[in-house]
Amino acid sequence: MIEEAINIPVIQVGGLRSKVLMEKMLASGYADIVSLCRPLIREPDLVVKFRDGVHEAECTSCNRCFDESGIRCNGG
Ligand code: SF4
Repeated sequence: MIEEAINIPVIQVGGLRSKVLMEKMLASGYADIVSLCRPLIREPDLVVKFRDGVHEAECTSCNRCFDESGIRCNGG
């Protein structure tokens, strides 16, 4: 695993939608930190939802959140 070859924290970036998967990555040492971007565009309060029992982000990774008018969720 990459963290065995380097001496800095490893951040897992991209495609994470499942709280269970994120927790497994952190607990196993696969990553020290997980990063969220598009899920927070769709659900800015996602971390609070995770805390309160939600297990999956609503973001479908459709990539319709980026256009010339700015960044916002246009999908789902
Ligand atoms: S537009 Fe699609 S990829 Fe972007 S935040 Fe919304 S659901 Fe996620």
